[in-house]
Amino acid sequence: MQVGRISTKMALVKSKLPDTDYVVNPYVGCGFGCLYCYASFMGRLVNHSISDWGHYVYAKINIAKQLDDQLTKLPNQGKSVTILFSSVTDPYQGVEAKFKLTRQCLKVLVNKQFQGLVAILTKSFLVCRDIDLLQQLPHVEVGLTITTDDDALSRHFEIKAPPTSKRLKTLTKLNQAGIPTYAFVGPVLPHLLNRPSLLDKLLGRIRATGTKRVFVEHLNASPYIKKRLAQQLTKSELLPSAKSRQTDKIIHQLITKHGLTLLGGQIIRHQVSNR
Ligand code: SF4
Repeated sequence: MQVGRISTKMALVKSKLPDTDYVVNPYVGCGFGCLYCYASFMGRLVNHSISDWGHYVYAKINIAKQLDDQLTKLPNQGKSVTILFSSVTDPYQGVEAKFKLTRQCLKVLVNKQFQGLVAILTKSFLVCRDIDLLQQLPHVEVGLTITTDDDALSRHFEIKAPPTSKRLKTLTKLNQAGIPTYAFVGPVLPHLLNRPSLLDKLLGRIRATGTKRVFVEHLNASPYIKKRLAQQLTKSELLPSAKSRQTDKIIHQLITKHGLTLLGGQIIRHQVSNR
């Protein structure tokens, strides 16, 4: 793994994501190296190819200072503004234990008495390190990406991410600490489309953590992502399915069965690009 340090001109970047005004990405690259990750195009910023994804991380060492400066310019202490950590990296990947950039940014938000929503999306239990800061923010939510409840299967797709069982425990811990949470079931892996009983079990395990809200997203089937996935789908004898639209109905039924709320009101589906 190549780890470097860079500086950034800004921390808050305007977002095109729904219900998100700004994103903060403390790192370029992600050591978790998920095969389905759409963010591997970020490598062009630091002279890495798509195939290098998961093998480099650059820490934006001045990001907390830039965030401090930008927050000063937001009117009403950012009331009604939503900031997402993060859109093209995991804010709690392994190097965060050393650099603490996400923690530094949260400290800035607390000190500035930021009044908007701080939304965090991660696959890592390291987020629990910052419960003390999260509890001081007036509006916060933490999402854990949970694509399966099978640690061995997760290892095929989310090569170096924490085991999915640990992510479920993280949800439990955050819920016990009073932090609003949700599970991000995305992408819906191909075997779940073929076997709804597994999705049933997965949603049941999410609900058992105390989490009541889920995002559900289908795979971003860009050609380069399909190419990467194809290697593992062959190894694990999993067959991709074109049944995603047919299974939306089943997914909705299972969400209702487990007393969960579907965030965004619909299952997210990507426009397939040729990238
Ligand atoms: S954790 Fe998120 S950002 Fe990191 S490789 Fe996986 S999908 Fe991409």
